[in-house]
Amino acid sequence: MTSEVLVEKKKLEKPPLEIHTLGDRVLRQPAKRIAKIDSEIRDLVREMLQTMYSADGVGLAAPQVAVLKQLIVIDCEPDNPANPPVVLINPTIKRFTRDLCVVQEGCLSIPKVYLDVKRPEGIEVAYKDEYGRPQTLMATGLLSRAIQHEMDHLTGVLFVDRVENRLALTQELNKYGFSPQAVKPVP
Ligand code: ZN
Repeated sequence: MTSEVLVEKKKLEKPPLEIHTLGDRVLRQPAKRIAKIDSEIRDLVREMLQTMYSADGVGLAAPQVAVLKQLIVIDCEPDNPANPPVVLINPTIKRFTRDLCVVQEGCLSIPKVYLDVKRPEGIEVAYKDEYGRPQTLMATGLLSRAIQHEMDHLTGVLFVDRVENRLALTQELNKYGFSPQAVKPVP
């Protein structure tokens, strides 16, 4: 079945949605579960994908576009037209693998800032797709990383909150005009 949410992977001159950046309060608010997965949600998914591709991202969570709903879109191969994006609605992580790994992350809400973050290597995640069908996915590598990063957005957590090297964090944020005060370290 061809999904209604598939969009052309290209940069639009005027993306449909605005991406909020570090310091904007909406990024710190928790997202709500989506009760009804209907065509309105699929319209939002389409616009989020267009906005993500336009910004050269591999993932986008609804709170980043000021929509406080538990919805994320991911495409780890944005240059490959044959690779469909993954749409995760109301995702929950069922299992983490025991091994942790350190990977450099970036975020469309904190442009140009890239820093190392330690997270579990693999996950099992349960979610609903854009038609409300329950799905589970075992992910490792970039996909696992992207899902964990985007799911943090649903609880108001940003990747900079998880950076252990505080000196590098402060330097990077200052360099690109963000306030280190906007970071809320996770315990
Ligand atoms: Zn992000």
